[in-house]
Amino acid sequence: MNTKITLAFILLFGLKSFAQDLNNVQFPHMQKTSVRKEIRMPNILGYQTLKCDFHMHTIFSDGVVWPTVRVDEAWEEGLDAIAITDHIENQPSKKYVTGDHNASYEMAIDRANEKNILLIRAGEVTRKMPPGHLNALFLDDVNPIDTKEPIDALLAAKKQGAFILWNHPGWKAQQPDTCLWMPMHQELFEKGLINGIEVFNEQEFYPIVLDWCLNKKLAVISNSDIHDVTSHFFDIENGHHRPVTLVFAKDRSLKSIQEAMFENRTLAWFDNKLAGKKEFLEAIFKASVTAKPTGKTDGKNREIYEITNISAIPFIVENMKGQVTTVPAESTITMTLDLMDYQELTIRNCYTGSNSILHVNMP
Ligand SMILES: [Zn+2]
Ligand SMILES: [Zn+2]
Repeated sequence: MNTKITLAFILLFGLKSFAQDLNNVQFPHMQKTSVRKEIRMPNILGYQTLKCDFHMHTIFSDGVVWPTVRVDEAWEEGLDAIAITDHIENQPSKKYVTGDHNASYEMAIDRANEKNILLIRAGEVTRKMPPGHLNALFLDDVNPIDTKEPIDALLAAKKQGAFILWNHPGWKAQQPDTCLWMPMHQELFEKGLINGIEVFNEQEFYPIVLDWCLNKKLAVISNSDIHDVTSHFFDIENGHHRPVTLVFAKDRSLKSIQEAMFENRTLAWFDNKLAGKKEFLEAIFKASVTAKPTGKTDGKNREIYEITNISAIPFIVENMKGQVTTVPAESTITMTLDLMDYQELTIRNCYTGSNSILHVNMP
């Protein structure tokens, strides 16, 4: 067949066989399906374990995304609840994006309801140190926290029953040498105007803050403070995740999250590290990792066990002889073990203080 005949053949029969609408042909399979990555985390102590991020920005302050994008990201990354916390005092897009301090919440709430993401109305009081930056969460109206004096903003938030969170206390732009608890923070703390502190923020860890939280009975918090698209900043495709606060709530509702946070029922999670109160760390570890004898032995007649970790966090376990095993996330490994060596464990990636890690006794 010569080329001309081939072309005519294709035009005649080829087009005919594909003939649908010559004006508009649809390729729906080329559209990406939004997929939620589930974060497996056991429920503990009669509470539901909720995955939360209480700090993020949109175009209504200095973030680069529209508020609904924050909901879509949270859904895809397996979260239960988020707070959009646009800066009260820093709104570089104000010239182009009008709207008051409630705008980002109001733009996002319908999408949040559709996606079953719990959305917290909030704002970030953004001042020089001290007191630095603080998020007011669970507000009814964000506008009253736009005041001249920072303390008035926090009092206005408190009046609405807000949970107040001290953000990035060790951020070098504001605390260049040491992470300091200043007299003004003491004053705010005594007035009930600091209820939790970020131990992890964006890609930073402030170990000393863990001691502050535990000593002063404040909630440990881990937040992204994301300004960019989350998948541009964190390597989510390769299994990394944003900083997440685990909240142990009576049920999956805003009211129960708020109650849990005031009662310090939280853990901070980032980069395979968990930080917070011993009782929650121990409960999460014991609910995640189990050892089951297989009934088989190896060549030296040692019992072989299946060690299973059902959670999204790998655990680095050290036995009484100093031998270290990593039990990968959502996986089972087999190993021979002498139970006598595993009666007391040290979990190297669970932090109970700036300088201490979790020790557990096994039954
Ligand atoms: Zn900030
Ligand atoms: Zn921020």
